[in-house]
Amino acid sequence: MSDQTLSSDTADIAANLAEIQQNIDKACAAVGREPSDVTLICVSKNHDADHVRNALVDGRRVFGENRVQEAAGKWPGLREEFPDVELHLIGPLQTNKLKDAVALFDVIETVDRPKLANALAKHRDATGDCPDLYIQINIGEEPQKAGIALMDADDFITDCITRLKLPIKGLMCIPPVDEEPAPHFALLSKIADRHDLAIRSMGMSSDYKAAIRLGATHIRVGTAIFGSRGY
Ligand SMILES: *Cc1c(COP(=O)(O)O)cnc(C)c1O
Repeated sequence: MSDQTLSSDTADIAANLAEIQQNIDKACAAVGREPSDVTLICVSKNHDADHVRNALVDGRRVFGENRVQEAAGKWPGLREEFPDVELHLIGPLQTNKLKDAVALFDVIETVDRPKLANALAKHRDATGDCPDLYIQINIGEEPQKAGIALMDADDFITDCITRLKLPIKGLMCIPPVDEEPAPHFALLSKIADRHDLAIRSMGMSSDYKAAIRLGATHIRVGTAIFGSRGY
């Protein structure tokens, strides 16, 4: 990468982050919330360490990755430069990657089935290690989508908290791409309220403003910060 590219990249990402922060401030003001109550998770999947570093240099410290292996290649090096990073796993976790994920991530947002919850509890009992956890809800009841089914959500949340004593801090969802997201965000907030869970991770590049109006405490934004991932 030439210096030219690097510096225009840096300026672009700083400008994107400034614009997003303004939008966060506005969305909060519209509903009487404090901007400091909304955490921007910079979703760095499919972007290399040099590109991601621009957001770190701009002062951002909370990042999301959706694959354990990709994060394992990218983040140990970046963490040496920026030790106070908080890294969130936002993609599906297979139990055979659990050990690596626990070692690498500060938060796992995608606890979505009893098998994974049990494995996390077992690993915690054996090692004492467990990151903060959010439960992913299949909020749009989509057959192919990850997340605990809506009709099983209340029992699953209760089981994770009371029987397994897992550190469940909140809920996470990804609404169906082709539907109005607002009702889904409202429903996630309602389920979180029911279980006294403070954290609601919802809203991406296209809908984070609506998510904030409906109670998001964590928004996960990739494209609007880093540009297209070139799929
Ligand atoms: C990729 C991804 C995002 C970010 O999506 P953008 O549209 O690029 O902002 C957010 N959440 C999850 C779970 C993702 O996989």
